[in-house]
Amino acid sequence: MTSQTMSNTPTPDQIRRAPKVLLHDHLDGGLRPGTIVELAHSTGYTRLPETDPGKLGLWFREAADSGSLERYLETFSHTVGVMQTRDALVRVARECAEDLAEDGVVYAEVRYAPEQHLEGGLSLEEVVEAVNEGFREGERIARQNGHRIRVGALLTAMRHAARALEIAELANRFRDLGVVGFDIAGAEAGYPPTRHLDAFEYLKRENNHFTIHAGEAFGLPSIWQALQWCGADRLGHGVRIIDDIQVQADGSVKLGRLASYVRDKRVPLELCPSSNLQTGAASSYAEHPIGLLRRLHFRATVNTDNRLMSGTSMSREFEHLVDAFGYTLDDMQWFSVNAMKSAFIPFDERLAMINDVVKPGYAELKSEWLFQQTASTSGSVESKG
Ligand SMILES: [Zn+2]
Repeated sequence: MTSQTMSNTPTPDQIRRAPKVLLHDHLDGGLRPGTIVELAHSTGYTRLPETDPGKLGLWFREAADSGSLERYLETFSHTVGVMQTRDALVRVARECAEDLAEDGVVYAEVRYAPEQHLEGGLSLEEVVEAVNEGFREGERIARQNGHRIRVGALLTAMRHAARALEIAELANRFRDLGVVGFDIAGAEAGYPPTRHLDAFEYLKRENNHFTIHAGEAFGLPSIWQALQWCGADRLGHGVRIIDDIQVQADGSVKLGRLASYVRDKRVPLELCPSSNLQTGAASSYAEHPIGLLRRLHFRATVNTDNRLMSGTSMSREFEHLVDAFGYTLDDMQWFSVNAMKSAFIPFDERLAMINDVVKPGYAELKSEWLFQQTASTSGSVESKG
């Protein structure tokens, strides 16, 4: 091993300790299997397919892997099913913050749809307050365990429903109280983002921020609408922008107008490799468009989407990318800085996170090989003596 690779190819342990920034993670897609079982028991939810946490975790991954949209959506009916009380929401949000912090995430924007948590009689406001409380508790517990994390919430409206404006107003009401932006999610086909123009126009008038799930299953028209009709600040996934990029036989690359626009305007792409493999948007990590998009300097970021359904974490995502593309700590830093630049918190806070947390964290990791070498050298001298 040369000193170059020692200094730069991250080990799994370094990947975990590296400061990571997460912009696209669903609260109802990241529960601990054991928590689902306990919440089902305490809230009287009887429809779980398995009651053993190990088997249940496996069931979630298999259902998400099955290639069947019905089975994939069924997974969320169970997680959302046990998240209908205040206590359940506080707990799930707290554990989310704890788990992300444990995995080395220093900043996360976690999204959920308040309208899906009203079956137990909570109001939209009570849902948001419960989740915020859980995030704050999780941040506190993480700090006690020696981790630092900041978690902001994104409020999601469902594409097929008609409450987007109401949820956008809710996001705006809570914008200085833990909610940093807005999103729409759900099946892309048949539900173009332009159905919710009133919500996006409202948020623009309020100088607020939003991202839109676009360009995941559905291609360029969805991305184009999200940007040019709705004015999205970021693209949830956006991975199909690859359809507007031609790689020629000689290796040169030609960008179409939309791909050029996305790159020129530094539109952040919330890429979620493992999730894309499960939904068929990419066939392997090595073939995932993130490799080309990173090479072409798009504003690419790495995300988990649904940690439970994909059996993943930020560290796992980076491990796959390191394997597939030979990424180094410098690449990891590039993705993390990209994500931090694209966060919805104020500019001065983003800058401080980059300069005082992210970059020093990577500098520390990148310097470790120097001391390892000293240790092994002195060790071999000793053994000779
Ligand atoms: Zn998503």
